[in-house]
Amino acid sequence: MNDCIFCKIVKGEIPCKKIYEDGDMLAFHDVNPQAPVHFLIIPKRHIAGIMELEAADSGLVGGMLYKAQELAKELGCGERGARFVVNCKEDGGQTVPHLHIHVLGGRGLSWPPG
Ligand code: 5GP
Ligand code: ZN
Repeated sequence: MNDCIFCKIVKGEIPCKKIYEDGDMLAFHDVNPQAPVHFLIIPKRHIAGIMELEAADSGLVGGMLYKAQELAKELGCGERGARFVVNCKEDGGQTVPHLHIHVLGGRGLSWPPG
């Protein structure tokens, strides 16, 4: 998608602080972190959000979730844990319409969300 911020990050047209990359996915630090650890993991292919997933994407998303927890441990969240979040559309608070998993850690997070 030409006007998608995260597709531009994938193409290197917008810089990011990269944590991990392979053929399918990219992980990078959030530009506006809400916790000492706050990174995003996205598919390289444009998928607008979690409700646009197709059955054939389940392996990709499983791989993203597995990598998310691996990176969370590498960034020091293994013992105390972290939050893995996917916001979806308007009511879910999604602002960038390219699927992403947020990983937040390094401090205690409140629940429920506001
Ligand atoms: P959402 O609200 O869609 O769940 O989350 C989008 C996230 O993307 C926000 O936490 C926001 O700070 C982050 N973000 C938006 N634009 C950029 C960018 O250009 N670079 C990076 N690294 N993060 C971004
Ligand atoms: Zn995109």
